[in-house]
Amino acid sequence: MEKIPFVTKEQMEQASRTFPTPFHIYDEKGIRRTARALNEAFSWNRGFKEYFAVKATPNPTILKILREEGCGVDCSSLTELMMSDRCGFCNSEIMFSSNETPAEEFALANKLGAIINLDDITHIDFLERTIGSIPPTISCRFNPGGMFQLGKGKEGFQVMGNPGDAKYGMTREQLFEAFTLLQKKGARDFGLHAFLASNTLSNDYYPELAGILFGLAVDLHRKTGAHISFINLSGGVGVAYRPDQPENDIYAIGQGVKKKFEEILQPAGMGDVRLCTELGRFMLAPNGLLITRAIHEKHIYKEYIGVDACAANLMRPAIYGAYHHITVLGKEHAPADHVYDVVGSLCENSDKFAVDRPLPAIEMGDLLAIHDTGAHGFSMGYNYNGRLRSAELLLCEDGSLRQIRRAETPDDYFATLVW
Ligand SMILES: *Cc1c(COP(=O)(O)O)cnc(C)c1O
Repeated sequence: MEKIPFVTKEQMEQASRTFPTPFHIYDEKGIRRTARALNEAFSWNRGFKEYFAVKATPNPTILKILREEGCGVDCSSLTELMMSDRCGFCNSEIMFSSNETPAEEFALANKLGAIINLDDITHIDFLERTIGSIPPTISCRFNPGGMFQLGKGKEGFQVMGNPGDAKYGMTREQLFEAFTLLQKKGARDFGLHAFLASNTLSNDYYPELAGILFGLAVDLHRKTGAHISFINLSGGVGVAYRPDQPENDIYAIGQGVKKKFEEILQPAGMGDVRLCTELGRFMLAPNGLLITRAIHEKHIYKEYIGVDACAANLMRPAIYGAYHHITVLGKEHAPADHVYDVVGSLCENSDKFAVDRPLPAIEMGDLLAIHDTGAHGFSMGYNYNGRLRSAELLLCEDGSLRQIRRAETPDDYFATLVW
């Protein structure tokens, strides 16, 4: 699919007079559209809820938009809990899916009434010691071990995860023990959670995962008597970062999960189970752009375009070699007859937004839109080389532009130092 930015050159030139580049910009309309599509796709399940993974885009304005669309939040740290609290989320609107959790974070999660999703069997005692009891509603994270593979094609598997090498979750045996122990300690309502593969591009990932979790839930209910009230499919539904990749069809995904639900849970008398998701990337990635300006061109052994953003603003290309599509604004329909490395200013050769990328001829001052940066973009940013974090803007539904986080200043950077 052709990738067309949700902003124009004129809009961004005007914006950059008030908010200097680089900046991240999010599309309110797109965020609401995505949330509605997900809710619609799972509307067959009574009580379905998306808990947006806050780590993907920790910004109060974004969280409040999602709350208006009926979403909760998935938190895994103290500040994510604090932000969610300040945005008005409480009780069962907060899922706390953390690991290696410090005691103070369990304490705050409990104070906010969040649903706590335990990553390990030893956390049962740890939680009880920390908050004095076990909450009546509790969830456990499952790790099936081994490899998780799906859809073998010519170029290998469509989906691949390596749970056997992942630090998360409990083994099957531990779950039976945990559910029994938790019931003895007062738990009444149980949840089950697993996250087996990241950024999947297949309508079969959620249905496959659902099949595993539903079967396990039936066994857990039969053997321990525990009442399982919700199953959490977590994150992992991906987005097509490359224009030639197939996009996920969330409606097909919803129907695939429904089929498993009707095959496995309903016949076992567990048709009241509520489903939840903790999507981050799927909700926000395509609804964000990083806008940056070309400030240098360099001709040595390759052709380089230097931009005013760097890996501190978007880390994925540098650390994963991730592809992010780039549009030169105003040249959307120009032929891509030049080949560039588009690079940032860090003293790190991995600081390249694109390598050997065919693009239209870029002139100094051109604005570039780097696509699919709405999730795990700004939030993974860092201060290496003393680079400062950028502003975040929102393109509102009415077409107006709003700053939803200001850019860092040198004072912010120096604020924690002891001189
Ligand atoms: C990161 C994470 C998510 C979100 O993952 P996406 O790939 O953004 O969908 C959800 N749940 C947990 C526990 C996570 O760690």
